[in-house]
Amino acid sequence: MRNKLILISGGAGFIGSHLCDYYVSEGNNVWCIDNLCTGRISNIEHLLKEQKFKFIEADIISLDINSIKEHFDMVFHLASPASPPDYFRLPLETLKVNSLGTEKMLEIARKCNAKFLFSSTSEVYGDPLVSPQKEDYWGNVNPVGPRSVYDEGKRYGEAIVMAYHRKYRVDTRIIRIFNTYGERMRLDDGRVIPNFISQLLQGNPLTIYGDGRQTRSFCYISDLINGIVKMMEIDFHFPVNLGNPEEFTILQLAELLQKITGKKAIIQFLPALEDDPKQRRPDISRAKQLLNWQPVVQLEEGLRKTLKYFQSIPIPSPGADKGVK
Ligand code: UDP
Repeated sequence: MRNKLILISGGAGFIGSHLCDYYVSEGNNVWCIDNLCTGRISNIEHLLKEQKFKFIEADIISLDINSIKEHFDMVFHLASPASPPDYFRLPLETLKVNSLGTEKMLEIARKCNAKFLFSSTSEVYGDPLVSPQKEDYWGNVNPVGPRSVYDEGKRYGEAIVMAYHRKYRVDTRIIRIFNTYGERMRLDDGRVIPNFISQLLQGNPLTIYGDGRQTRSFCYISDLINGIVKMMEIDFHFPVNLGNPEEFTILQLAELLQKITGKKAIIQFLPALEDDPKQRRPDISRAKQLLNWQPVVQLEEGLRKTLKYFQSIPIPSPGADKGVK
């Protein structure tokens, strides 16, 4: 089979850059488009010298689709701020990239007759009242709260993807990504794992929002990438949860990271963030059945690798790790 031409929006981001790596390593031609509002050149620096890789620094919102003459085989729409402090800081950008941006990327896929994948999120379930969350749960989302720019942006994104599939028969896929971590997260992106690691490395207190009994389920990046790649190979158009079903409280995560780093820290309890989901855990039966996929990397193993990565990069300036609005 000939090598494919693949377009990845958000390809300089944490997840996108790993996806670029995978497809380039398989001998495909990859075009990465990113406006670097949360992505970083350092994530793709090693790919810039590859002939099969092309980086375009641009906002997909302002892309002129008529100027695109290439015939892409696959189109991935990953571009979006994804950490709460990032989308609190970039509310309109977040709404636009998931609405107008998704439409642009769908138009490209339609024009090329390409396979299309939209990266949605567990945030579409909001603060879920059922656990674990199955794909047929419609969620408990506050449409006007501070998180709504992301939650509703992604919900609109899912809706327009399904509309393009139903109306134009575009070969679409939707994945709902649960908390993912690993190499190339920004140490200052404000999410709980980079925050705790950066605080431990600098000897600062661990900041916990609320009582720390809220739960999350953390998936290591290589597991997620395997799931995304498999998703592109099947013919299924409804959402599929991708995440690790092992659930931890934030207090347990704080304990585990102290053990792994060998550093003890005091815990500073801060007010809970507004609408912060109290529990989150994927039901991955659909992914298991359709993709024959499940995560294989245990949290402790993945955190050790992530810690090694963070120890190898410079620590960003102080104050940059605050997860508050
Ligand atoms: N959190 C925390 N301290 C931090 C950062 C996050 O207690 O320094 C909590 C946050 O309130 C949430 C959970 O950890 O309950 C996961 O937050 P994160 O920002 O990583 O992602 P989310 O799952 O909320 O999108």
